Amino acid sequence: MQPVKKDRKKSAVGIVPAAGLGIRMGAGRPKQFLEVKGVPVLALTLRSLQECDAVDRIIVTAPKEALAHCREEIVGKFGLDKVAAVVPGGRRRQDSVRRGLDAAGKGFDLAVIHDGVRPLAGCGLVEAVLHAAEEYGAAVAGLQATETVKEADESGCVLKTLDRSRIWLIQTPQAFSFEIIRQAHDRAEREGWPEATDDAALVEQLGVPVKIVPGLRQNIKVTIPADLEVVRLFLEKKE
Ligand code: C5P
Repeated sequence: MQPVKKDRKKSAVGIVPAAGLGIRMGAGRPKQFLEVKGVPVLALTLRSLQECDAVDRIIVTAPKEALAHCREEIVGKFGLDKVAAVVPGGRRRQDSVRRGLDAAGKGFDLAVIHDGVRPLAGCGLVEAVLHAAEEYGAAVAGLQATETVKEADESGCVLKTLDRSRIWLIQTPQAFSFEIIRQAHDRAEREGWPEATDDAALVEQLGVPVKIVPGLRQNIKVTIPADLEVVRLFLEKKE
């Protein structure tokens, strides 16, 4: 896949894993396809990347039975013309991201990975992680813990209190040099690394430092029905 030619030095592909089944939502269909004010969560998420000058192309991964729905009812209907491909995801999130990287091919300097169920990230945050990734090779959005953080055992009893000044809650978008994230996913697959809940964890395993840039409180991951209300209220406030 060829990135668009432009004056900027670095080309970037957005990879949006949206192939989860969202069991915790209990809505009978994946949470990325639920609507807020008539717009699917995934379409809202993709807008953050579509509107972002620093992103040239977008690859979406979706459940294989929802590929046509995603292409027609989301990408086509909402005019998301930077989306170059909608490809089937894998069993785990990291398998879906790897398939997205495969679909992107070669030719991009940077990749920005963003969960399909985070509709409120906005273009500014996407640009901020891409900018930091240019400088550091790997960057994630994160919030410093404001609550006290404790580690507990399986029965829910506290084992210890952690030093919250060093605790960060990590979000997506996460941006990387394309070569670094490709290498991390390839090695994880080849060497059977334990499952990672984000892409930065694989890059950390490679030994590459990951820079944290300030995330946004509203950049929630839609997980339970009440989260859709939060998204709706935020959008209404913005209008
Ligand atoms: O499961 P979790 O909430 O961490 O999912 C984060 C994102 O990864 C969601 O957008 C979900 O659709 C996606 N995902 C995926 N493939 C999977 C599991 C999750 O693309 N197998």
